[in-house]
Amino acid sequence: MSADAEQRLAEAIERMPLVDHHAHGLLPDPTEADLLDALTQAEHAASVADVFDSGQGFALRRHCAPLLGLPSFASPAAYLAARRTLGADEVARRLLRASGIAAYLVDDGHRPDLLMADERMARLADARVHRVARLETIAERVLAESSSGGEFVARLGPALEAAAAEAVAFKTVAAHRCGLGLDPARPTAVEVRSAADVWSASERAGAGDAGPAASARPRLTDPTIIRHLIWWALERGAVLQVHAGFGDADLVLEASNPARMQALVAATAGTGGRIAFLHCSPFVREAGWLAHVFPHVFVDVGLAVGFLGANADSVVREAFDLAPFSRVLFSSDAWGVPERVLLGARLWRDAAARVLGGYVADHGWPVDEATRIAEGVAWRNAERLYGRRFVEA
Ligand SMILES: [Zn+2]
Repeated sequence: MSADAEQRLAEAIERMPLVDHHAHGLLPDPTEADLLDALTQAEHAASVADVFDSGQGFALRRHCAPLLGLPSFASPAAYLAARRTLGADEVARRLLRASGIAAYLVDDGHRPDLLMADERMARLADARVHRVARLETIAERVLAESSSGGEFVARLGPALEAAAAEAVAFKTVAAHRCGLGLDPARPTAVEVRSAADVWSASERAGAGDAGPAASARPRLTDPTIIRHLIWWALERGAVLQVHAGFGDADLVLEASNPARMQALVAATAGTGGRIAFLHCSPFVREAGWLAHVFPHVFVDVGLAVGFLGANADSVVREAFDLAPFSRVLFSSDAWGVPERVLLGARLWRDAAARVLGGYVADHGWPVDEATRIAEGVAWRNAERLYGRRFVEA
């Protein structure tokens, strides 16, 4: 197989529109500290060197610097200075548009108070923005408005239906709250009511899980209520995004292994709902196996791709291990700053071209077939999963 075929594949991947099926909003005017914090999963960046002397940092200097008018691998100081000169909107416009992302599915569950409105992001990106509703956030809002467990249960259904009318999918952060090792059974109404009574009483006593200081905003950690939300979403035939694998220190990494959820995945196979495991690293192979044996399971390696930089090939390759290719999805999982959007897209395109190019060069795959598989991950699989046209014809 010729280098020419690999070149044709790389060019086709370069031109493909992307559907970012899991991202977050952007900070409207990030300070330098905000930028550095948004480029790490630690609560705060320990130092400029920690952020820039990393796979992501080298990728940022290589790929983002030229879009800000600097040479590739400009110094961190030069990059930060160029960012200040151009201003947040111009930086966002340049990086978002260079990503080639045509549509974003935005989960506003993480610090939505800090992030810009969807319309502003859509305008800067010249792309469509759709909404993913986070189940725990809806339940927490309903609990804050309810004076008892009974009132919470009565209000929850209508609140979920109202969210469903606006959103293209739901998301759960069970991994952060109680771990993915959930009892597979659908909780009974009595079980949900009794869990709601306990949660409501504990929040009202100011002894919520997050502590008295945070009592103004309830925090859902109860596995019965979380299971109830998961079953509700899947039984209505929705797509449920499930955080799996690494993220910030708010989760227990071992408890975020998607294999922990095997029993619940099996129990919900006949519901008509679909499960999309997000991020997955370092459990990409476990998620791929779940997708292999359960037809309602999808996998995504967003977040890891951007952070891994020059090593991003490893997770893109693992995503092609056992999962049927039609159930592998692209996302950036960018939060806060447009650098993460650009890097998610740029590094995925490069990694996909190298990994699939290797299949062409070393395993004789027809280049058109490799292109078709890349196009599925880039946007077609997402359109099929969510049942929507995201990309202009
Ligand atoms: Zn996310």
